[in-house]
Amino acid sequence: MAQQTSSCQYVPTDQQRIGLPLINGENLSHTFHAHQDITAVNTVDFGITEGKITAIIGESGSGKSTLLKLIYGLLEPSSGEVRYRGWLIPTRKDKLIPGHPAMKLVSQGFDDLNLYAKVWDNIASQLPNTDLALKESKTRETLDRLKILHLAQQRVADLSGGEKQRVAIARALVNEPEVLLMDEPFNQVDAAFRDALQQDMRQIVEDTGLTILLVSHDPTEVLAMADELIVMKDARIIEQGSPTKLYYEPTHSYTAQLLAKSNILSPDQATSLGISSKQTIGIHQEDVDFKENPQGTFLVKDIRFRGFYEELVLNNEQLTLHAILHPLADISIGSKVTVDIKRYVTFE
Ligand code: ADP
Ligand code: MG
Repeated sequence: MAQQTSSCQYVPTDQQRIGLPLINGENLSHTFHAHQDITAVNTVDFGITEGKITAIIGESGSGKSTLLKLIYGLLEPSSGEVRYRGWLIPTRKDKLIPGHPAMKLVSQGFDDLNLYAKVWDNIASQLPNTDLALKESKTRETLDRLKILHLAQQRVADLSGGEKQRVAIARALVNEPEVLLMDEPFNQVDAAFRDALQQDMRQIVEDTGLTILLVSHDPTEVLAMADELIVMKDARIIEQGSPTKLYYEPTHSYTAQLLAKSNILSPDQATSLGISSKQTIGIHQEDVDFKENPQGTFLVKDIRFRGFYEELVLNNEQLTLHAILHPLADISIGSKVTVDIKRYVTFE
């Protein structure tokens, strides 16, 4: 997979720009002209590295799907540009069939699948009949990569959500695109299957050099799967970096809340914990240490069972803190506790 397309020039006036990341956006905007104008992507700059998994993460309505459609060429930039291997992405005005030829898009739902056909035929039908032996071997190889070879003779309609998702991905990959675009692809997959599928996707990236660009609003999904994160808020990219970097050293409180459900405190609230800061700070839940103590100033207001840990809501007159209790211990609502902050992040 991921053979280099030597040329991807669809826009006659275009000149290839050298030295850019695989996909590169500059000052890229898109405004929808509905009954009012909505700028869904607002002057964003980004670079996407080849052979990696990049996730675009943000709240619903932040512009993730619009950005993905700009990258695929389904939408026209209102201003700025987006390039693939240095060439402008062709859009509907440049190209009859929408979608960049080196990319494939897997969206939510299974609209592209023929539910009443067999798994095998859903994949094989994507390949030409000019070389039947190749058609057979490529179909087999792709089913094998997605670990659904044993389902080849089943109707798609009879499969579970997770299996259908694997068929949809196999169908997108059988023609060996260089980039796979996925819009909230794991929504309909049970948590237990999701983890296995994500790890299999990582393996495919490693084995083939495929580049994946994934849209998600689920932090647990992207933290485990992505090499690189792009955080979107209100149509803008507010930061880009590795999952560990953005988890431990976010520069925006939005990122800290999104990835770590971090406690966000004003400078005054921070002072009441003995932390002096001129800026807003974030304290991850796992960094709030607490001890039962009759002299403590915090009260356990609520205890939320989360399985192997509990989330405690602690408050005093100034603030509320969420903290993690792990391993589980005997502590009850109404207990007084002292609080010790192990680590905090300062925002810009
Ligand atoms: P996300 O994928 O992050 O949920 P979207 O990119 O779908 O966000 O949407 C971003 C904004 O653009 C939202 O305010 C949404 O209502 C608006 N929007 C998306 N698609 C259209 C459209 N076809 N026409 C008008 N507005 C749209
Ligand atoms: Mg969306």
